[in-house]
Amino acid sequence: MAKKTQLAKLGLFDAKVPRYTSYPTAPHFSSVIGPTDFADWIRAIEPGSRISLYVHVPFCRRLCWFCACRTQGTQSDEPVRAYLETLKSELAMLGAALPRGVTLSRLHWGGGTPTLLKPDMMRELTDSIFDIAPLSDEAEFSVEIDPNEIDAERLDVLAAAGMNRASIGVQDFDDEIQKTIGRIQGYDVTRQAVDMIRERGVQSLNADILFGLPHQSGVRITETVQKLLSFNPDRVALYGYAHVPWMAKRQQLIPSDALPTPQERLDLFETARRLFIWDGYDEIGIDHFARPEDGLSRALRAGRLRRNFQGYTDDPADVLIGVGASSISRFPQGYAQNASATSVHTAAIRDGRFSTARGHAFSGEDLMRSRMIEALMCDFRIDAGEITSRFGIDRADLTAEFKRIAAEFDGLLKVTEAGLDVPVEARPLTRMIARAFDAYDLSKAGHSSAI
Ligand code: SF4
Repeated sequence: MAKKTQLAKLGLFDAKVPRYTSYPTAPHFSSVIGPTDFADWIRAIEPGSRISLYVHVPFCRRLCWFCACRTQGTQSDEPVRAYLETLKSELAMLGAALPRGVTLSRLHWGGGTPTLLKPDMMRELTDSIFDIAPLSDEAEFSVEIDPNEIDAERLDVLAAAGMNRASIGVQDFDDEIQKTIGRIQGYDVTRQAVDMIRERGVQSLNADILFGLPHQSGVRITETVQKLLSFNPDRVALYGYAHVPWMAKRQQLIPSDALPTPQERLDLFETARRLFIWDGYDEIGIDHFARPEDGLSRALRAGRLRRNFQGYTDDPADVLIGVGASSISRFPQGYAQNASATSVHTAAIRDGRFSTARGHAFSGEDLMRSRMIEALMCDFRIDAGEITSRFGIDRADLTAEFKRIAAEFDGLLKVTEAGLDVPVEARPLTRMIARAFDAYDLSKAGHSSAI
């Protein structure tokens, strides 16, 4: 890693940059894209092709203070049941528009807390999904599982429906940190959920942890990582906690003076990163780790790793359709996002319309920049040959762009005939380097810390 003084000089500890799970990033979506575009893009899907489906459940039993997800707290099942009816209608509309023979290469339930659905609701939802598109061979069906909100019956339903990847959020196991971030989830509860998941033959387990939390120290994150490793997860996402109380009001309950400094955040990340690598995980992109036999590791080695709204993926599908409030779909033509407010989304579906409220249609330049940013975030290199042949750009112009950007990073990047490389010591700067390839004005959007 480059010395901290050099990283500081380059602005790593002050920069606010996107995580680049899309390009352009969501703040650049506009209302120019609506339900008609969405329906047209659905109809343009090749008959018989494999697509991915994301289902969003924006409800939780309690609202954790650290969490910036758009979700509603509810103790009653009534709003959840009403939302399920909306999802079923939306899926039926989608099924009517989809070309024949489409199958799912990936199905993901996220939230919020999808596991707060009761077992009968889960069955209704899976039936509605598989009515319009069955899982394809070797498909992955993943569900975000809240260890505080799961039991044997619900896991039985999910396993019977074909769930083969489970994702659990851990944040940190330390008691003081859990109290400070308003999320109590003990090691034993998490262990029990993991055991129940494994007992049902679910092959793959993902876990998310956070660095940069209040009161987090090297010792505490080490303990959390060691406890997490006792579950032997197949994949781990190590995300930086984004403290944005002006956007996520619940975070105002978290004392800012207990937060680590940006320099300390980098140390916390490095501590956890080393522990995963020592334990035999492959490093995947900027913030994921995977066992060498996991699909992400295999995709990385084969040059097939991709970036999407869930972080990193080995999903080969060109189309990802999001259903539910605020879900984002990606098509070869552009992005389409459903209305964020559950009430607005529900009203549109009741009226028999898709709720697409905003989005973005790709220009040729968007596609080229999107690919360069994805290559940086996945492989830490941009292959000049791939970009010139795919997008018809002049090699000399591309090399000049690489040199211009490399000059902004103090000689840390390598520009050769083959392309641009981000050496290991410069990797903490990757999101800032990606920003240098971003043609949109980033000044107005409230992005999170670069580290
Ligand atoms: S962390 Fe999970 S349970 Fe807590 S508010 Fe966020 S989505 Fe809901």
